[in-house]
Amino acid sequence: MSTFSNHNFAGQKVLVRVDFNVPLDEKFNITDDTRMSATIPTIKKILAEGGKVILMSHFGRPKGGPEEKYSLKHLVKHLYKLLNSNDVNSPLGDGGTKVFFADDCIGTQAGITATMLRPGEVLLLENLRFYKEEEAGDEAFAEKLSKLGDVYVNDAFGTAHRAHASTAVIAKFFPADKKMFGLLMESEVLSAEKVLHQAEKPFTAIIGGAKVSDKILIIENLLERATDIIIGGGMAYTFLKARGGKIGASLCEDDRLKTALDILEKAKQKNVSIHLPEDSVIADKFDANANTDIRPSDAVPDGWMGLDIGPKAVGIFSEVIKNSKTILWNGPMGVFEMEKFQNGTKSIALAVADATANGAFSLVGGGDSVAAVNQFNLADKVSYVSTGGGAMLEYFEGKVLPGIAAIKE
Ligand code: AMP
Repeated sequence: MSTFSNHNFAGQKVLVRVDFNVPLDEKFNITDDTRMSATIPTIKKILAEGGKVILMSHFGRPKGGPEEKYSLKHLVKHLYKLLNSNDVNSPLGDGGTKVFFADDCIGTQAGITATMLRPGEVLLLENLRFYKEEEAGDEAFAEKLSKLGDVYVNDAFGTAHRAHASTAVIAKFFPADKKMFGLLMESEVLSAEKVLHQAEKPFTAIIGGAKVSDKILIIENLLERATDIIIGGGMAYTFLKARGGKIGASLCEDDRLKTALDILEKAKQKNVSIHLPEDSVIADKFDANANTDIRPSDAVPDGWMGLDIGPKAVGIFSEVIKNSKTILWNGPMGVFEMEKFQNGTKSIALAVADATANGAFSLVGGGDSVAAVNQFNLADKVSYVSTGGGAMLEYFEGKVLPGIAAIKE
């Protein structure tokens, strides 16, 4: 396996798999460009060395053929701006890094444009998912894509858990010294490995969000590694009910009560402390303007529901976090989208930031916890914010991610 940093890209056609699956509004404006901007350092490094960059990505969920609303052409202007950030008002291609667009990801036009690229120029290919062969991991399609570049760089951590043509299968058409992770992928893998395999203890995992069923595998894997597991959010009430608590109308997965008990029992055997919220902010309905109260989490009155962790829970959880050397956070502590129920998530975010300032390594990942640290302006106060939701979750479930394995093979 070659590494990005020791490869010389001068004069080479570098086929880079990126994750440009950004949200757009109805006027095709990008509402959150995190995924695009996260991969810009990789692109700029290749360009600075005199490489030619050919970008490929999926975008949305087209039904296997071209669809205007899922065309990557909507992203060209913004890509140009990101690559020429000193010159944001300049029209496309007028000075700075040139960005071309091919309205197909394979075929004659893509091939010719790729061949005609000059060092320092960028070509964005049309949405890979306009071919159903992409998600099917079709070899012939992967081979066609591979012909566009001399080197393959995978910088799409967000899709690393998919064995698609452009994320995994394509790698077999490049020799070991011509396939590698991009800078984003490299740092995602390094951060995840640090937490999974080199965690300094105490190691606290904070797991929240709505559903136990989504998080069982990650909790089970963390039982082998963490010293403490904090469970908050809607999923905590299934555990509280399993332990005999009264949870009123709080979120509960009755078919997971046994699983919850098994997890609590396993934790005891493995000497892992599981922390459930002592108290909760309860509400008389699921509404931003609901009436609220604070009660022990296992004594929620009928008709009321726990929508955030309470002040005692915040205190206890923060203390555990403060004493940690490694922290992994996935999932909010409450319905942080509503102001009345955001204190728990915000306080935990602050505790993670404090622990980080005191030398802990903290990794935040998974859509909603990332949204939370961004909302509270704390993203630069934690050690690493992962860009991969599903991929990050699967990594921490202990699965081998096809996009990573394909490069390492
Ligand atoms: P997940 O996608 O499983 O990480 O869940 C995130 C969602 O869980 C967010 O939209 C939160 O609003 C929601 N959530 C967190 N805590 C609760 C709770 N106590 N009751 C209902 N929903 C919750």
